[in-house]
Amino acid sequence: MTTRHARLLSALDGAALCTIAEHAERVAPDECCGYVTDDGVRPCENDQARLHKAHPAQFPRTARTAFRLAAADQLALARSFDGRDPARVLYHSHIDIGPYFSETDLAGATFDGRPLYPDLLHLVVSVRDGRAVDAVAFAIVEGAAVEVASFDLASLDLASFEFSEGRGSPPPAGTSGPDAPRTR
Ligand SMILES: [Zn+2]
Repeated sequence: MTTRHARLLSALDGAALCTIAEHAERVAPDECCGYVTDDGVRPCENDQARLHKAHPAQFPRTARTAFRLAAADQLALARSFDGRDPARVLYHSHIDIGPYFSETDLAGATFDGRPLYPDLLHLVVSVRDGRAVDAVAFAIVEGAAVEVASFDLASLDLASFEFSEGRGSPPPAGTSGPDAPRTR
């Protein structure tokens, strides 16, 4: 892992992971999507269901197997890189399959083999039987997805992640969620 990747990963503290896990479980069996800044998690709208319904030939996948940020969210994400609180990690979930970075994911994250956003990691959350169980963070390096960290969401065991040290711990049960107080 490079220093730059570690810096981006530091946005994924315990509170952020709790919020992402809750988002993934709330919208399952659809895929969730959103991004993370140093200030917290920005859950986004998965526009795939609407697109599939309106244009099934053009968008054959449903929200269960694909995600697409709604236009307003895409714009906010792009603009964040010019602001004081840029996106660090873009996340989405996979339903009842592993947290791997698919060819479709890679195609969506790159243009002509280059990352759309060079300073952005990608987190894939695996949801099984309605529960967010694990997640893997990827960086786009030379046109390919490279794993930079993995997370056990079932236990939210952050002890093994050095970059999380001192940056807060998961909130007590029952207080996780977008409105939960940040612990750091
Ligand atoms: Zn995916």
